[in-house]
Amino acid sequence: MKVLAVLGSTGSIGRQTLEVVRASGQKFGIYALTANTNINLLEKQVREFRPEIAVVMAEEKAQLLRERLRDLPVKVLCGMEGLIQAASAEKVNMVVTAVSGSIGLQPTLAALKAGKNIALANKETLVAAGDLVLNTAQLNNCSLIPVDSEHSAIFQCLHGKKKTVNKLILTASGGPFCGWSKEKLREVTPAMALKHPNWNMGAKISIDSATLMNKALEIIEAKFLFGMEYRQIEVLVHPQSIVHSMVEYKDGSILAQLGMPDMHLPIQFALSYPERWADYSNPLSLKNIELTFHEPDHDTFPALKLAYWCGETGGTLPAVLNAANEICVQAFLDGRIKFLDIVQLVENTCRQHKVSEAKDLDTILAADNWAREHTEEIIKRNELKKN
Ligand code: NDP
Ligand code: MG
Repeated sequence: MKVLAVLGSTGSIGRQTLEVVRASGQKFGIYALTANTNINLLEKQVREFRPEIAVVMAEEKAQLLRERLRDLPVKVLCGMEGLIQAASAEKVNMVVTAVSGSIGLQPTLAALKAGKNIALANKETLVAAGDLVLNTAQLNNCSLIPVDSEHSAIFQCLHGKKKTVNKLILTASGGPFCGWSKEKLREVTPAMALKHPNWNMGAKISIDSATLMNKALEIIEAKFLFGMEYRQIEVLVHPQSIVHSMVEYKDGSILAQLGMPDMHLPIQFALSYPERWADYSNPLSLKNIELTFHEPDHDTFPALKLAYWCGETGGTLPAVLNAANEICVQAFLDGRIKFLDIVQLVENTCRQHKVSEAKDLDTILAADNWAREHTEEIIKRNELKKN
């Protein structure tokens, strides 16, 4: 039996991971479940899956949850220390990193140092600290198995044949505003941006999909996961989200992975790998389906070019890109900035950053922190100017 720690179990990927676990019969044990603040759902999950550890971030919430769960033998921990303990406990075989944002970095590193394989949904961690995460994984002989649908598709098409690859083709749905002009994008509200045409996801990644920052982060994620050069990673808009990504080999042959836009499949594949289990819940029928592909509109959606530049520059810049984006997405959701400000402000912060070598965790955390403070300061300054 594989024993899992699910970090971010109350989120979109976390909940779907537990659905896969539930449907798999007795294939998995759950050692730890974690949330940020949603103790109502976490309590329900603990009662069903009976983990040894449950973690929430704030101590007051942990205290509340402890009281509610006093009839069970579960230990309720809190904060980063709790997350690290959940991710690195001896009994755990695999850690599902389904938290949102670079908060996932320290528990991921702790899990790798403790020799755990990772089912990686939390792309921000790889963007912020790709080299460090990969080196730590290699040193400890651990695998990073992608959960992100595009990377799962590439992983399935690649099958270790990296040397003969010409390029990776990441598909992008284009988000809810595919084909829109800049003029029209000025009027976008958080409610409009949260409505993705094909996927039902957490708030942060939904906004990232609307700005194409999600695809931008995925370019950097793919570079690290598959050890490619940036010039070997191409993005094509594919509005149907049926072809989840492709690998073009040197002889011109292109392999693709297809499926319904449903995260259960990539989650299950990451958990079952190297096996492939039956999943008949959402089969794809190709009858009467039209599949189309086109170039992204780089002028209207500048996030992709920004990611190539940050990725090529390397060092601490991708961590800054990610952290500035986390701040801007939250500010947009809070109604403090406009939709088009998001990528503009992220780019400004990236251009202000003095890049250094991302040599260790402290350097990366310092860059992440600098980007958050700098971006927040600019947002506040703009608010003051307006009032
Ligand atoms: P959600 O926002 O739905 O869930 C995030 C989870 O992380 C929740 O359990 C949340 O707890 C917890 N969390 C949030 N912030 C913190 C924090 N500061 N400290 C500790 N825990 C925290 O996100 P998604 O499930 O949509 O995404 C999770 C990750 O997976 C992201 O990195 C995303 O890019 C990636 N991903 C998601 C896909 C999807 O379809 N959703 C597809 C591919 C990748 P609480 O519920 O208490 O807030
Ligand atoms: Mg994706």
